[in-house]
Amino acid sequence: MEMPAPSASVLSRKDRIVDRLRTVLPHDAVISDISETRAYECDALTAYRCPPLCAVLPANTQEVAAVLKICHEMGVPVVPRGSGTSLAGGALPTADSVILGVAKMNQVIETNYDDRYIKVQTGRTNLSVSGAVESNGFFYAPDPSSQLACAIAGNIAMNSGGAHCLKYGVTTNNLMGVTMVTMDGQIVEIGGAHLDAGGLDLLGLICGSEGQLGVVTEATLRILHKPEGARPVLMGYNSAEVAGQVVSDIIKAGILPVAIEYMDEMLIGVCEEFSGAGYPKCEALLIVEVEGSDAEIDEQLSLIKEIAGKHNPVELREAQSADEAARIWAGRKAAFSAIGKISDYMCLDGTIPVSALPHVLKRIGEMSKEFGLDVGNVFHAGDGNMHPLILYDANKPGDLEICEEFGAEILKLCVEVGGCLTGEHGVGIEKRDLMNVQFDPADLEAQMAVKDVFDPAWLLNAAKVFPLETSQSRRAA
Ligand SMILES: Cc1cc2nc3c(=O)[nH]c(=O)nc-3n(C[C@H](O)[C@H](O)[C@H](O)COP(=O)(O)OP(=O)(O)OC[C@H]3O[C@@H](n4cnc5c(N)ncnc54)[C@H](O)[C@@H]3O)c2cc1C
Repeated sequence: MEMPAPSASVLSRKDRIVDRLRTVLPHDAVISDISETRAYECDALTAYRCPPLCAVLPANTQEVAAVLKICHEMGVPVVPRGSGTSLAGGALPTADSVILGVAKMNQVIETNYDDRYIKVQTGRTNLSVSGAVESNGFFYAPDPSSQLACAIAGNIAMNSGGAHCLKYGVTTNNLMGVTMVTMDGQIVEIGGAHLDAGGLDLLGLICGSEGQLGVVTEATLRILHKPEGARPVLMGYNSAEVAGQVVSDIIKAGILPVAIEYMDEMLIGVCEEFSGAGYPKCEALLIVEVEGSDAEIDEQLSLIKEIAGKHNPVELREAQSADEAARIWAGRKAAFSAIGKISDYMCLDGTIPVSALPHVLKRIGEMSKEFGLDVGNVFHAGDGNMHPLILYDANKPGDLEICEEFGAEILKLCVEVGGCLTGEHGVGIEKRDLMNVQFDPADLEAQMAVKDVFDPAWLLNAAKVFPLETSQSRRAA
């Protein structure tokens, strides 16, 4: 993975830059010692590492603005960081960049149950947003599997989703407004505690912009009434094609489950071993969950089970208790940790039309043999968001490169069948050089022109998202 050479001018001015930053932040909020900056050298795409010039941990919007003004004046690149759980390398620093971490900014600013929103500082973790409102019977819907750790900041930047997004949508569908600081230190308010705003949908532009347009410091989020109950049903099939057909039949029947999750044979085995979830031995496992009152759940599940039963399942088991439901989910939610226990892996994230599922899974299996690396598949089947996990050995020379090549071929396949390079993890550095596969030069030029408006000097997270050769002239200028 190529990264641009760091600016010698910035590196030579490190002491001056750190001194200036200390004029606007407390001493311990500017981290410059290499033994401490190492903590910021990577995100969850751990194959790539580089300690930053320094890291800053502001406590509020004004401090973020003061930091960005200094970096702007001194021509220093900035990489915004939430909790560092990006799987796409979105928070990977360059040696000449300042990591701007929002971890200290974790306060709830306002909750309003009448109008159903919560306003938080963006360093707050995803799960603790729900935690702040659950005693009043509310929750925040987007639920990435990393929700215990990941911050709302990163969720907004990556437009994150999760298992329950089939019904509730992803971050962009639950975000009402942001306070954002642009690279030159201006504080702007976009959207707010209302359903829609006049003018262009700038909020839609900011959500998913991967830290390229500004640093988001506060967010107004929609909160929802907790459903009365939820219940999953687990279905095992001995054919990926049949499991794909079941997904498609459920959606076609007009039922809207809250989640439809898919795991292939390798993942079923690994997750069962890791969590003792009680999964059957089979080729494909579906977890389908519905929500509502007991009567609503019973009605939806009886329709779903009728559809599932027509396709000869190896197992068709409805959770009979809250404990059993939690056990069914425990295996799926632990998928990444379970794989991480047995091997180094790279988690991909692409989206395909649901009908292309059997073909794509078959091709991934064939490619696995061609590249000589094992792959497991787990994904949000209801919306076609795949997460192939390629296993490799980080200590074996050349394995990472083969893994990257294999990953690129899978993502190209997603585009080829009418899907998309990313589902919910973003582009970062991982898919940066594949953007040409999805977009033609005019598309990329239009996207870069948007960045020109917000960050004309290309100082914010500039080595990400766009292929390096495509953004070269802008970054150099
Ligand atoms: C085990 C595991 C499971 C995961 N499961 C899911 C899942 O189910 N669904 C899903 O969508 N993702 C998932 N992810 C990926 C990751 O958790 C999400 O992308 C998450 O939103 C990143 O949040 P973060 O706070 O850690 O952001 P970081 O990793 O710190 O940063 C991510 C991006 O956001 C930018 N950024 C950070 N803060 C700001 C800010 N204040 N303003 C502007 N830009 C900013 C960064 O520059 C970077 O480009 C998973 C990751 C792991 C490790």
